[in-house]
Amino acid sequence: MNQIGLVIIGSGPAGTAAADFVRKQSAMSVTVVSDEGLQFYVREHLARFLSGRDTEDALFERGRNHCETIGAAFIAGKVARVDPREKSVSFADGSVIKYGDLLVASGGKPRELDVDGANLDGVSTCYTLEAARGLKQSLDSARRVTIVGGGTIAAKLIPFLHERSTEVTVVERSPMLLSNVLDRGASSVVKRALVDNGVRVIENGEITEFIGEKGKIRHVQLRSGDPIPCDTAIVAVGIRPSVGFLNEAGVKIDRGVVVDAGLRSTAGHIFAAGDAAQAPDPLHGGAPTVHSGWKKALAQGEAAAKSILNREPGYSGSINSEHLQILDLGVAAVGITATSNVVREVVESSVEKRFYRKFTFDDTGLTGAILVEKDLPAKELRSALERLLLQKKRPSLGSVSEYEGLLRLPAHALVNRLVEMQGL
Ligand SMILES: Cc1cc2nc3c(=O)[nH]c(=O)nc-3n(C[C@H](O)[C@H](O)[C@H](O)COP(=O)(O)OP(=O)(O)OC[C@H]3O[C@@H](n4cnc5c(N)ncnc54)[C@H](O)[C@@H]3O)c2cc1C
Repeated sequence: MNQIGLVIIGSGPAGTAAADFVRKQSAMSVTVVSDEGLQFYVREHLARFLSGRDTEDALFERGRNHCETIGAAFIAGKVARVDPREKSVSFADGSVIKYGDLLVASGGKPRELDVDGANLDGVSTCYTLEAARGLKQSLDSARRVTIVGGGTIAAKLIPFLHERSTEVTVVERSPMLLSNVLDRGASSVVKRALVDNGVRVIENGEITEFIGEKGKIRHVQLRSGDPIPCDTAIVAVGIRPSVGFLNEAGVKIDRGVVVDAGLRSTAGHIFAAGDAAQAPDPLHGGAPTVHSGWKKALAQGEAAAKSILNREPGYSGSINSEHLQILDLGVAAVGITATSNVVREVVESSVEKRFYRKFTFDDTGLTGAILVEKDLPAKELRSALERLLLQKKRPSLGSVSEYEGLLRLPAHALVNRLVEMQGL
């Protein structure tokens, strides 16, 4: 097969946003490749699929043949190697295609646990539709579920498992839940809410074995403590960028493919977007940083497409930005929030009242915030904060007392205040 034009590795949001833009705006030929063998589906709704709220068809919100609809080709296959001199992509089955431009939108692959019993029936990750299909079956008869890993995927799964009255245990290796999103204070508030709702939380817990009976998971064994009985174990211990096929391509890879604000890698005609890309973070002086997430992948895919078409990408970079709904708690964490990186902060918190607010700022203005509280409009707050922090000039309120004022505003007034601050 011989293809010239744009080849996109990955049919997730980054790859699909790029394919849509290029097909709409130009006559360039586009080929999308996926080793899942599936065209675009909404991975971020896999928890809704597991809960039965979304059917499998609903995940394919643009249809199962989106590529054909937009006039792009689709190849189901695993990319094994990229050769920038030949401008070629080689597949695991030995076939080769050529590209004019290449977009690496290959996202991440779930990390697996290298312990005995990891292949038992009932032990699964939850990153692909294929995994979720198996998991759904297993969950149908499960009374007790252990989630290994207390990060954002666990946070998405807990509410629906709780809704089904499943007994849930979360085992987190580090000393706190959501350690890549929250600080210790905010994490304690989330933990309290989970525990009060009957979720068992084990921090500093290291899995040493999945113990089975007749090939089926029965217990999770930790380094210390009694085995935890369970019918299903969901492994959600993070992802690693899927970029191994670039190892011999001379492309700079750090924690992902390092790209500039035009999403260009260090090799000519190779671009990267989404969870596989390490793009400039304006809050860290433009240092390339991996920030995973659906919206970021869409924005980077479109910006990469503009660069490929030699247009101004208009991309202001990506920053840490997350919102979650965990039972009745809304959680928003945006910008620089880790205490080790913070210049100054104001905090108000109460574990009992399930309330945590922190604003961080430096001499030039706001740098980040963490908000956790009951019925918080987390999505709106996250968007308002993200827009604010991505402005060329971050807002400066002037004095510590003005930031302290933000701690006490009712949540909806806070959203309005943050919107007002845009352009200040
Ligand atoms: C259960 C769940 C819930 C989530 N919820 C949220 C949420 O609420 N909000 C949010 O922002 N994010 C959420 N995420 C994360 C979000 O889905 C990802 O950040 C997003 O999908 C990244 O998009 P992407 O286009 O970079 O890559 P992906 O969506 O990962 O797509 C990359 C594709 O490339 C394929 N690929 C990889 N390597 C190769 C290869 N060698 N050859 C061919 N194809 C390859 C992959 O198999 C995959 O199909 C969730 C994820 C999961 C699993």
